[in-house]
Amino acid sequence: MSVPPALSRRAADLDRASALGDTRTRFCLPEGVIYLDGNSLGALPAAVPGVVHEVVARQWGERLIRSWNESDWWGAPERVGDRVGSLVGAAPGQVVVTDSTSVNLFKVFVAASRLRAGRRVVLTDGASFPTDLYVLAAASRLVELEVVPVTHAEAAGAIAEYADRLAFIAFSQVDYRTGELWDLPGLTRSAHEAGALACWDLCHSAGVHPVGLDEHAVDFAVGCGYKYLNGGPGAPAFVYVATRHQADFDHPLTGWQGHASPFAMSPDYVPAEGITRARTGTAPLLSLLALEAALTAYDGLDIADVRAQSQSLTGFFLECLAGLGLDLPVVTPRDAGRRGSQVSLRHPQAYAVVQALIARGVIGDFREPDIIRLGFAPLYLTHADVLESARHLAEVLAHNEFDRPEFAARAAVT
Ligand SMILES: *Cc1c(COP(=O)(O)O)cnc(C)c1O
Repeated sequence: MSVPPALSRRAADLDRASALGDTRTRFCLPEGVIYLDGNSLGALPAAVPGVVHEVVARQWGERLIRSWNESDWWGAPERVGDRVGSLVGAAPGQVVVTDSTSVNLFKVFVAASRLRAGRRVVLTDGASFPTDLYVLAAASRLVELEVVPVTHAEAAGAIAEYADRLAFIAFSQVDYRTGELWDLPGLTRSAHEAGALACWDLCHSAGVHPVGLDEHAVDFAVGCGYKYLNGGPGAPAFVYVATRHQADFDHPLTGWQGHASPFAMSPDYVPAEGITRARTGTAPLLSLLALEAALTAYDGLDIADVRAQSQSLTGFFLECLAGLGLDLPVVTPRDAGRRGSQVSLRHPQAYAVVQALIARGVIGDFREPDIIRLGFAPLYLTHADVLESARHLAEVLAHNEFDRPEFAARAAVT
């Protein structure tokens, strides 16, 4: 299929105008692949292999247990937390990298409920990522909360309605399936006006959106290390506890690494000062230090420029769909101010379409029931890649390539 020359020129113009410059060289990407799945597992930053080798061979292999002090393994959760914090608008001392998102959600939900003991209602998105719902249900059984599901459109009204019965809101800033950006500043403000707290899941916004946790007075937040932050498979997650809540942050997983003096080996738990009390057990150091190296891909970048590039890439993808005559229903808001860093499309054969794209080297993913989900990681994608991926999609659809039997079989991970 030939591409209209105007689209090719526009891709080149947009790439020249990008404020990020050539950040793609900060990543190792295989030849012939256009990677549209950085919202699920980020690509490998070029700084990571060398650091992992050094950590394994020298820090672990040679220095052994001395590295806890010599290489400050002990302080890594807070050190890397501050670097993550700088990408989500949090001043130092409020973010720690620890555990998984699921585990951190549990800590935050129970702690938030204890801070609003007289109030028992929690508002959440009923279409949220399942782990957020499962963990909220489990926390609710423990601390007797009533979970009320609402849509984005209903959220502000529900906050006003539940008013002094509302303990906290628990939403994702970006819907993992549709890519819709929720109104974090506005809903946080409304929750506070009702005397409630705001917990935000940043899994699909950390690293691609400025978020502004401090600016918007968010109370608690969590997020993944392995999506746009590129920390690698199974990278630990992060948790943000605003300074004003730290002294009262009473979470349920009180392990020794959140203790005020862990090496006193006292039988009684005394929480550490500051964000350290959100730690539980020993961190997965190899993964944590891989994440630290990965975050150097953001060195010298302004997160506002990253957001601008993300909006430009997703916006250009929509332009390409129109320019190539593709009229699949677009699930993601067309207004750039209302979308995250992905574009989701509907197709009755979405799974097979994604498999056909992968066979052509365009890696995206499928989400139930009929969503083709394409993530646009601004640090390593160009507008030329965007146009090329739209061209492949047009060819897959024009030739019904998705009908081939080999694209129907589902793997364990979709
Ligand atoms: C990816 C994702 C998670 C993953 O949680 P883990 O505990 O790291 O497996 C949770 N919530 C949301 C919204 C996500 O997008």
